[in-house]
Amino acid sequence: MALEREVEQEYRPRMLEALEQRVNAVAEELLQSQPSCRDCGGSMKQHDRRTVSWRARFGKLKICVWRYRCRVCRNECRPLLDVLGVEPGRISGSMAQLLGLLAVVAPYQLAAELAWLLLGVKISAMGVWRVSQRLGEAAAQHSEQMSRYHSDSRARCLPMRQHRQ
Ligand SMILES: [Zn+2]
Repeated sequence: MALEREVEQEYRPRMLEALEQRVNAVAEELLQSQPSCRDCGGSMKQHDRRTVSWRARFGKLKICVWRYRCRVCRNECRPLLDVLGVEPGRISGSMAQLLGLLAVVAPYQLAAELAWLLLGVKISAMGVWRVSQRLGEAAAQHSEQMSRYHSDSRARCLPMRQHRQ
């Protein structure tokens, strides 16, 4: 186990580098198209470019991210973060899912220890707690949206059913 862990730790920086390259390739691809404003639908222009970091399984990613702005509504967006579903300074979605999974099967302290043993990720029990809270909120939001969607579609069907009766 110690040998396996050694190899993993040795190759971690390279995996992080490879992941960074892939993320940068996605960023490059996104430069081909201009995002449109969610309010007026106009095309948004490049505003500035800042380094954004977030935590992935292989370590902390640091990526230069373009921010776009609508000149009319002042709306801003960062297409790369939207596409990847990443929030700056936080944990990547895939790692959050893995940690959430551990939090489901074990108490937070043990989940944090398992994260180190199984994933080579250093995180505190509090960190695991925060991740599982966020996942819980996201899941609740999703199911609320789903039920709203379904009750809406039922509402649309209702007049027709009444008509048939
Ligand atoms: Zn706009």
